[in-house]
Amino acid sequence: MSIIDSALVQIRQLHPYSPGKPIEELERELGINNAIKLASNENPLGCSPLARAALEKAGEHNELYPDANAYYLKQKLCQKLGIGDNQITIGNGSNDVLDLVARSFLDAGTEAIFSQYAFMVYAMVTQACGATARVAPASANNGDSSYGHDLDAMADLINDRTRVIFIANPNNPTGTWLRGDDLRAFIEAVPESIAVVVDEAYFEYVDLAQYPDTLQWLDRFDNLVVTRTFSKIYGLAGLRVGYSVSSPELCELFNRVRQPFNGNSLALAAAQAALDDDEFVERSRQCNSQGLLSMQHWFDRRGIEYIPSVGNFLTVRFGDNSSQVYQDLLQRGVIVRPVANYDMPEFLRISVGTEDQLQQLYRSLGEIL
Ligand SMILES: *Cc1c(COP(=O)(O)O)cnc(C)c1O
Repeated sequence: MSIIDSALVQIRQLHPYSPGKPIEELERELGINNAIKLASNENPLGCSPLARAALEKAGEHNELYPDANAYYLKQKLCQKLGIGDNQITIGNGSNDVLDLVARSFLDAGTEAIFSQYAFMVYAMVTQACGATARVAPASANNGDSSYGHDLDAMADLINDRTRVIFIANPNNPTGTWLRGDDLRAFIEAVPESIAVVVDEAYFEYVDLAQYPDTLQWLDRFDNLVVTRTFSKIYGLAGLRVGYSVSSPELCELFNRVRQPFNGNSLALAAAQAALDDDEFVERSRQCNSQGLLSMQHWFDRRGIEYIPSVGNFLTVRFGDNSSQVYQDLLQRGVIVRPVANYDMPEFLRISVGTEDQLQQLYRSLGEIL
């Protein structure tokens, strides 16, 4: 028997996450230097200058271990969010926190529920723990499209073995979202022995009256875990920092499985400084909503369908041509994201870029289509 055969069966069957193609890789392959990446929902404006300055300063003492308790970052978050510092769990990206939840609750014989087309990481962390994924068929919500989370279908999958329910609001790669009253009613009906994870990676982009402020619900639900990240609107994806907000008891539980220094000192310093720059966040939000409108108009005018999105990306239907369109865009130095691994082979997910980046996208698409 080979060493690989002795690995856990759920690990042998796991497919690695397929990330967006790095800019450097494409430039190396094509011998060009002006490629743009609209593939990983990164902030095209970069990050706050305050975060950049804090990063430089923090780099003066790389010989020291980071503060394992992330004291200053947690203090800032508490003040901003109106929660206790004993409710925050810092992760190496919010994906790390999703993994902490899975490792705390899931093993063989237990189940996790999530929606068809939901963020890939839920399936990965569930399988890595040897648990069973129960996938609810998607449906229309908010009158949008047939790619959203169907909360009734998810509730139907709850049984004695259910330990975790993952909900992305808004969801990636569909950009669909759930209304506060629907989501709250769903959580009310979930047995309190089941952890409900509401992944709000794109929270700061959403500006809709019906979009919930789930942190307000934490007093009511001891089984609620809200995750957020510095990777998206804060523009710090490369540093890897995210967090969850939950009851102090759950937070204490996650702290037992967490690696002691999962938030590195540069990431903690930059994230803390980024929270001081509301102006940058506002500018990013405006850039995104203008870009999203511009993209919608461009595709509307050409009769090309897309899934209405409230995130910083648009998932567009190119039909049978989609992998060709992806390749042709690459040839023109534009990286977008295929979503065939989400069982959506007809679509490409395109992150909202700056005005200039979008013009480059439109020019390239104009030539291709
Ligand atoms: C981007 C994204 C995350 C964030 O990942 P990080 O590990 O924080 O970089 C989490 N959930 C969803 C749905 C996402 O799209």
